[in-house]
Amino acid sequence: MRCLTFLFFILIWTVPIGGQTYYELEDYRSVPKIDVHVHISVQRLAFALAAADQNFRLVNIVVDGAGTWKRIREQWKYVHFQKDVHPRLFQPITAFSVEDFHEEDWESRTIAWLDSCFAEGALGVKVWKNIGMVLKDQDGSNVMLDDDRLDRIFQHIIEADKLEVGHLGEPLNCWLPLDSMSTNNDRSYFSEHPEYHMFLHPELPSYQDQMDARNRRLDKHSEIKFMGAHMASIEWSVAELGAWLDRYPNATIDLAARMGQVFSQTVGNREGVRDFFIRYADRIMYATDLGDRMTNTSEELAEYLEKTWMRDWRYFVTDQMMESDLINSPFQGLKLPKNIVDKILHDTAEAFFSFDTE
Ligand SMILES: [Zn+2]
Repeated sequence: MRCLTFLFFILIWTVPIGGQTYYELEDYRSVPKIDVHVHISVQRLAFALAAADQNFRLVNIVVDGAGTWKRIREQWKYVHFQKDVHPRLFQPITAFSVEDFHEEDWESRTIAWLDSCFAEGALGVKVWKNIGMVLKDQDGSNVMLDDDRLDRIFQHIIEADKLEVGHLGEPLNCWLPLDSMSTNNDRSYFSEHPEYHMFLHPELPSYQDQMDARNRRLDKHSEIKFMGAHMASIEWSVAELGAWLDRYPNATIDLAARMGQVFSQTVGNREGVRDFFIRYADRIMYATDLGDRMTNTSEELAEYLEKTWMRDWRYFVTDQMMESDLINSPFQGLKLPKNIVDKILHDTAEAFFSFDTE
């Protein structure tokens, strides 16, 4: 009996009130994590080794950033190579180019390219903001994501049972004047690149035009497994983003390169942001958009990765006051319960990207 009483007290002692348990800062390396949005299209293995060391697995993504098939093919070769060397560490996502969109056989050539990538292990396809923001039609207007000429590509992705990663539009900051932007990184990027600063180009499609075209594409293909990269470009409001996730039950989002906007909302609405992460943890995947551009040594790269990943770990698991050069005000960490941290940093991605469980 005395033994049972003792056991009872041990149980009471170890199970906190409400059943919540929390990670400590020091648990960082021991907890398995996934970063679902990185760009490693080089031969060096430094990124993969740092990720393995810090208990991260990675989704490595090809992107039509340069706008050429040549660059797409080159990136796929490296993404494939990284996966070959570390099969358990990576899941690869391919992309296609719209360089020759107006040529007659673009559609059939694109489908053949995607099939060749699927045969080599690509799990899905990324579409990029150049559709909607750069690609022009013969009459000079922008080709938007819901354009009929893209229908067969999307249909093919669904039939092949592949994933769709969509970076459509830009952060809302892109359509705001510099002094109204919520993050320092956007402010410096758009001051250096006025050609991409849509506030200065009111003749081009608006933020809402970009979101509407993306949504009409999802309405057309409601069964598609879609990951809205960069918080589906609704990074400016957790309430709006929650409403969007409610409207598209098959959609998920990643947090890539938008932690500044998360921190910025935390300054004035920490409880709202915290509730958002708890409520939608099954739909949110941690990501950074980090890559290897061979501009630093392997040691410097590993250090930079650790600094970024640790910053976000600290934000999610502790309630410490924090500062970041992404924004100008201090903010407090969310201290999310363990099970929510596990979902955002691992479980949601493991289910969506079919990582091996062993
Ligand atoms: Zn990216």
